[in-house]
Amino acid sequence: MGFSPRTEALLDRADSICHTRGARLTDLRREVLGLILDTPAPTGAYDLLDRLRATRHGAAPPTVYRALDFLLEQGLIHKLERLSAFVGCVAQAEEHAAQFLICRNCGKVTEIEDHALAHALDDAARRLGFTVGKATIEAEGQCAACAAPGKETAACH
Ligand SMILES: [Zn+2]
Ligand SMILES: [Zn+2]
Repeated sequence: MGFSPRTEALLDRADSICHTRGARLTDLRREVLGLILDTPAPTGAYDLLDRLRATRHGAAPPTVYRALDFLLEQGLIHKLERLSAFVGCVAQAEEHAAQFLICRNCGKVTEIEDHALAHALDDAARRLGFTVGKATIEAEGQCAACAAPGKETAACH
């Protein structure tokens, strides 16, 4: 498997993060994470399975789902419910509040970690006696590149 140097560097970082937590980034988990990190757009589980089968012919859906569960637990990836797809996490930290900006035009997904936003949601929920466990906010719209002048025609679809 040849991943980009950027992805390999992130994988090494993920490996040491897992190591300090006493978890193990097995070859399979590393490969699944690498496939997600190497793809600019969010990746679905079946897409991952297809690509995994290029090197692991016996790969079955449960194999991929177990690897994805592990990566989610370690906060190395996020699941975008709206797209039913996974993205690598820039923070690579344990469970954290994450907000995603999804461009309707080019499909680019950007993760932001705005603690003020997370706290505002917590406070609003608490006023109703609700305790927020996990909140992933997904916002759809248009990214800066697509909104740039000269791109208006391409952006209306
Ligand atoms: Zn994240
Ligand atoms: Zn865009």
